[in-house]
Amino acid sequence: MAASSEWYEKDYYKILGVSSSATDKEIQKAYRKLAKQYHPDANPGSEDKFKEISAAYEVLGDGKKRSEYDAVRAQGPFMGQGRGGAPGGFNVRMEDLGDVFGGMFGRGGRRGGSGPQRGADLETTLGLSFADAVDGVTATVNVAGDATCATCHGTGAAPGTSPQVCARCQGTGSVNENQGFFSFSSPCPACHGRGVRVDTPCPTCHGTGTTVQNRQIGVRIPAGVEDGQRIRIKQKGAAGRNGGPAGDLYVVVKVATDPRFGRRGRDLTTTVRVSYPDAVLGTTIVVPTLHSKVTLKVPAATRSGQVMRARGFGVPAQGKHAAGDLLVTVEIDIPKSLTAEQRKAVEELAKLLTPAGEA
Ligand SMILES: [Zn+2]
Ligand SMILES: [Zn+2]
Repeated sequence: MAASSEWYEKDYYKILGVSSSATDKEIQKAYRKLAKQYHPDANPGSEDKFKEISAAYEVLGDGKKRSEYDAVRAQGPFMGQGRGGAPGGFNVRMEDLGDVFGGMFGRGGRRGGSGPQRGADLETTLGLSFADAVDGVTATVNVAGDATCATCHGTGAAPGTSPQVCARCQGTGSVNENQGFFSFSSPCPACHGRGVRVDTPCPTCHGTGTTVQNRQIGVRIPAGVEDGQRIRIKQKGAAGRNGGPAGDLYVVVKVATDPRFGRRGRDLTTTVRVSYPDAVLGTTIVVPTLHSKVTLKVPAATRSGQVMRARGFGVPAQGKHAAGDLLVTVEIDIPKSLTAEQRKAVEELAKLLTPAGEA
C-alpha cells in the first residue's frame, strides 16, 4: 500500500499513547484498551476518536506498514511526498480550493451525497418571566429535527454489528490523486469520506445514524438575558449525518414585562412616590425588590426625579459581571384633590415660601 498524506500529519504513536519504541505487544494492548473505551456502541458520539484509533492501529499493528510509516516520518513533512503525490509537489485538499477551482477537474462540490454532513442549526423560542430573565433559569425546550438514531446510537450499523475501518482510505476518509504537479486529496469513494464502512445498515435510519425526532433539551439561561436575545447552544441542533458534527441550537428568549420593574442592562428600575413634606423633610421608605423589599432613607430636600440606588438588588452577579443594582426614582406625589383644610395649609406654605417683595 502507498503511504497516505495522513502519515505526515498524524502521530499514530501519540494517538495510541505509546512511545515510538513500543513493542508490538504494547501497541496491541494500548489499542485494545482505547478501542474498548471509545467504541461507538459503548460510547455514542465517539466515532471520530474510534476511527482515529483504528487508523493508527491499522498502521502500527502491522510490522511492515509500521516500518514504512517510521521511514516516511523520518524524512520529515516536506520530503518524499512523491509516494502519495507528485514528487516535490503540493498536496492540496480539494475542499480547500472550493470556489476557486470549482469543478475544474470535473468533480462535484465539497458536499458528497453521502459523506459526513454537519447537522442543521435549529432555532426555537422560549418565553421567560421577568424574574427568570433576571435570575437565570434552567428550562426545557422542544426541538424537532434530526437526532441521533436510538437503534444504532448514531453509528448507522445494524444492532449487533459495528462500522469497520474503510480499507481503501485507512479510515482517513480521503484519498490522494495526482493531477500533474499537484496532488489532490478528495473524499474516499469507497466510504464517501466517512472513514468507516457499514456492511449492514441500521434498519431504523438506513445507515445515516439519524432520524427525525422531537427532542426535549435542557438549556441553561444565564442571569440577565434581554428580550429578543439569541442564545447559542453549541452542538444541540440537528444531529450530523454519516458521522458529521451536530449543528447548533439557537434559543430566542421572549421576556415578559413586569408592572413594578424595568431593566437597564444589569440594573432594575422602579419608581416610588413620596409626599411633598417627606421629600422636603426626609423620611424612610420601604421599596419592593424583585424577591423581597429593602428600606431606603430619603434624605431631606430630595428632588422629584432623583435616583437612589439599592446596591446588589439587580441582576445577580455572574462570571465577570458584578451584581446589578435597583435604581429607585423618587417622584413627588401631588394630590389630585385637597380638603379645604389642606388647601388652606398649602396656601399658608406658599406664602411662607415666597421671598419677601415678590408677593
Ligand atoms: Zn440507526
Ligand atoms: Zn474510505
